[in-house]
Formats: sequence, C-alpha cells, structure tokens
Amino acid sequence: MRKPLIAGNWKCNGTIPETETLLAALLAGESNNPRTSVLVCPPYTALMHAAKLLESSHIAVGGQDMSVHEKGAFTGEVSPDMLLTAGATHVILGHSERRQYHGETDHTVNAKTKLALTRGLIPIVCVGETLEQREGGGTEQVVGSQVGAGLAEIDADLMKRIVIAYEPVWAIGTGKTATPDMAQAVHAFIRRELTAMCGNAVADQVPILYGGSVKPDNAAELMAQADIDGALVGGASLKAADFIAIINAV
Ligand code: PEP
Repeated sequence: MRKPLIAGNWKCNGTIPETETLLAALLAGESNNPRTSVLVCPPYTALMHAAKLLESSHIAVGGQDMSVHEKGAFTGEVSPDMLLTAGATHVILGHSERRQYHGETDHTVNAKTKLALTRGLIPIVCVGETLEQREGGGTEQVVGSQVGAGLAEIDADLMKRIVIAYEPVWAIGTGKTATPDMAQAVHAFIRRELTAMCGNAVADQVPILYGGSVKPDNAAELMAQADIDGALVGGASLKAADFIAIINAV
C-alpha cells in the first residue's frame, strides 16, 4: 500500500558541473525500479537545473529546507513557491543538521510543514535521537515529542501527504547504522504515535523512511522491515553506483 521512496540528500554538495556529472551517471545506470519512487535533493542553486535534466525521467527533485515565510524581507531564505517553480515536488524539513547548526525547533518544523502542505509540496519531516538520548533510554520520548510537536494540528487528510524520515543522529554520516531491528522498533513506534494522532487508516499510508549511513550493503535488510518504507540517503547518494544499488535493493 505504501510505495517506498529512495531520497538522496546531497547536502552542501553539487556545483552545476558536479550536478551534471552525477545526474548523467544516475540516468545512465538507473534501471527505473517500478517498486520505488526516487528523489534527489540538490542544493538550491542546482535545483532548477537538476529538474530540467530529470524532466523526462521518473526521478523527482526536492529542496533540503524551506523558509517559514512565503515571501518578503528575509535575506537568504527560499520560499515554498520558489521551490515549486524551480521544479521541486518535495522538501526535507527538520533535518538534524538544520536542528543542530541552525537552531531549527519542532515549532519551526511544524510551521514549515503546514506551509509546505498548503503550497502543495510534500514535506519529508526528519526526526531522530542523539547517541546520548538513546543511551539514556530516551529514544521514544524524544522521537515521540518530535513527531507530536512537528506534526501538531495537521488534518488527517493532509497528514496522508507527509513523509517521515527516522534518522538517528548518531548514525548520520558516521558509518554507524541502526540494525534493522533497532530501526524497525522505532518505525513501528512512530506509526503507533501517528495512529494515536490521526487514526489507523491514515497512519498506515504515511511512508516512514530510514536514514543514517544507508549503503548498498545494508539497504535491502533495512528496507525489508515491515515499517521501513524507503531511505533518506546522504553520503551514498553522491555516488551514482551506490545510489542505484540502494534503489535496486527495494
Ligand atoms: C542524511 O543526511 O540525511 C543522511 C542520512 O546522511 P548519511 O546517509 O550520510 O548518513
């Protein structure tokens, strides 16, 4: 019922020439796996170019963040309509690097999520605990409150259009991956929280991606878990062969 999604988060990587090279390799090698949707999230400066290069492919393009404002005197900010008219269909919100380095809170994630939905972008809302929080037994408390506050006051109808990414902070860019069992336990917990918030029928439709050092050699096992509906991939999305292998692992 839930179509998996493999999303690449390029972070602060991807000049125009690098974007052209990476997407050419992706288009040449990607086998158009009908079992999954595919998304790449380049930096803002490459987004429109990427969207044009991918126009006749099935690979969608998304932003890595978005302003909480629709327009105005907010230097450096990029609005939802700017993303949409550049060709984006999705936007990553509340990535742990935005929370850690840019002071993003559940409150801003909630406001951005509502705005993205109103404007017609699909938000990929990131949640996840730090190592300290996990070791202190606080994973469910942290993730539960990020889900509760980040997705507060969103109608069930709109909730169906959200994607959640569970990304344990300790696994991002570190080479450490949650075991499939560890990840599945948190994904199942998130789905229970969603059920409490908006009912079983809606919670069943929300894709929950896993993110944190997903690589070709661990992707299949992670995605075989009942509540893992794809992956948000950082480092490995910058290598066409690895990203393609992850897509084909679905
Ligand atoms: C990410 O940045 O969302 C991520 C999961 O990164 P990596 O795959 O490099 O751990």
